[in-house]
Amino acid sequence: MRDTGFLVVLSGFSGSGKGTILKELMSRYPDEYALSVSATTRKPRPGEQEGREYFFKTAEAFEQMIADNELLEYARYVDHYYGTPRTCVEEQLAGSKNVMLEIEIQGALQIRERFPETLLLFVTPPSAGVLRDRLAGRGTESPEVIRSRLERAIGEADGCEVYDYLIINDDLEECVEEIHHIIRSERCRMQHSLREIETIKNDLKRYVKGEQI
Ligand code: ADP
Ligand code: 5GP
Repeated sequence: MRDTGFLVVLSGFSGSGKGTILKELMSRYPDEYALSVSATTRKPRPGEQEGREYFFKTAEAFEQMIADNELLEYARYVDHYYGTPRTCVEEQLAGSKNVMLEIEIQGALQIRERFPETLLLFVTPPSAGVLRDRLAGRGTESPEVIRSRLERAIGEADGCEVYDYLIINDDLEECVEEIHHIIRSERCRMQHSLREIETIKNDLKRYVKGEQI
């Protein structure tokens, strides 16, 4: 019924599986999901491509984007800037897909402030040990950076009660389907659909007055 984009934030501890989940959602349901590509000042990991995982920026270029109001939100995360380019999200919202922002908690709060209907999902592995092992097993960060990210996770655990759903990423298949079902259901909630009901109501009014609909 809803014919405009629906904004969804997916947050979670580093290593909780956000990137993996989103890749899977996009490949299973390409017609239903659009992914916002963020800008960051961190270096690309092996295999990451400019414009696919991130737009990789220098600190100066990122600060210029802030000054030019090109970001919908931004935050610092473990020594780097991360932010959501505005125009891409605004264009995607004009379509009808679920627009997925994979961002951390400070950014999520900024987005909800601007777009109160945003659905906020927080993903976690089943335990601290699994988180540590997944982050280390990914093999993309040094032991020091892994430690900083796990320290950051302690703070994030304190802030996650603002989210609408907590999703446990134990079995990937189940987790992806759970997220897909939550998003489908949330799109149908009454407050998101009032505009459509208004259109039907107005058409019915015209019809009972004898007009064509
Ligand atoms: P994030 O984007 O949240 O930092 P990633 O998607 O990079 O996390 O996942 C971290 C690591 O955990 C990756 O090596 C990924 O393959 C692995 N992983 C993700 N989800 C699962 C899962 N359900 N079961 C086992 N390993 C997983
Ligand atoms: P990573 O370096 O692992 O790709 O991302 C580190 C953290 O930054 C993750 O928690 C991720 O969700 C977050 N992040 C990625 N892009 C953005 C963004 O555009 N804005 C904000 N606020 N956080 C982001």
